[in-house]
Amino acid sequence: MNCAADLPRANLVGYRSDHPKVFFHCHAFPPDYRRFAPDGVTGLMPGTVAHLSALARDLGFERVTAISPCEVPEGRATARIDEGKDGLKWLAEESVAHPEVLSFANLDPSRKDSAARLEKAYRDGFAGVKLHPVIGRFSIDVERDEDFYSLVNAFRLPLVVHLGVLPGRQPWPIRFHHPLLLDDLASRFPEMPLIMAHGGGRAFCRDVLAVMQSNPNTYLDLTHTLDKRYAWHLPADDLAAFFDQVGPSRIIYGTDYPWYGPADLSRDLSALRRLGIDKAGMDLIMGGTFAALSAESRRS
Ligand SMILES: [Zn+2]
Repeated sequence: MNCAADLPRANLVGYRSDHPKVFFHCHAFPPDYRRFAPDGVTGLMPGTVAHLSALARDLGFERVTAISPCEVPEGRATARIDEGKDGLKWLAEESVAHPEVLSFANLDPSRKDSAARLEKAYRDGFAGVKLHPVIGRFSIDVERDEDFYSLVNAFRLPLVVHLGVLPGRQPWPIRFHHPLLLDDLASRFPEMPLIMAHGGGRAFCRDVLAVMQSNPNTYLDLTHTLDKRYAWHLPADDLAAFFDQVGPSRIIYGTDYPWYGPADLSRDLSALRRLGIDKAGMDLIMGGTFAALSAESRRS
């Protein structure tokens, strides 16, 4: 029988899983060193698809999810593309040479063209959708944007939504992106896989757990939850509650590349070992859970 002691220590190279291992929740964007200095500790993290793909492979992952750059004014996000440029088009072109990359369309549902862009992204082979209401300055509003969400649901595309407060003063009211808004979304579209990024962080993780307990189509994304340095760190008791209450078949490990390197993976693996997750659970969170959602999306 497998036990926590069998789990990998530094990286997933040589770790045999029952599912393809997925380097999840990664940002890709055109590099611009004026606004993003290379990381002195982990090396060069330019955010390009080529660099992301090579890093994932070196760490032992077989698949990568890449989120298209934010289409927002300068100063609002690092992972952005210049105004007027199409971030989805950029990612589609960059990914052509990387069949291991699963592209996520970073969209603003409140924009008039979002449903049309989503339809095109689906036809172009995008594997999911990402919403960042704080960076994009929009609200999660199921009624207003019903056409957009209906389409995500029809395509069975996994939908990742950023949840949790950013460090410092909030640039966008919390009521527009509170996790309980996702209860409306998940219950209105029970077939749509809804991935709750960062588990809402320490501040909202209990709300996220409540939404997950009442909606079987919701999933927890562990990005930046395992390390105290981040605003979205989840205390060990709360993390354990997710594993007890919903289980690893609804939990996905994520990275937030390019804010991520080999030392982060090693540290996260230690945190997961401390939670006592067995190998079957580890296989799920490192790719099995996401693979099940992806298979679902292909069936429609
Ligand atoms: Zn992110």
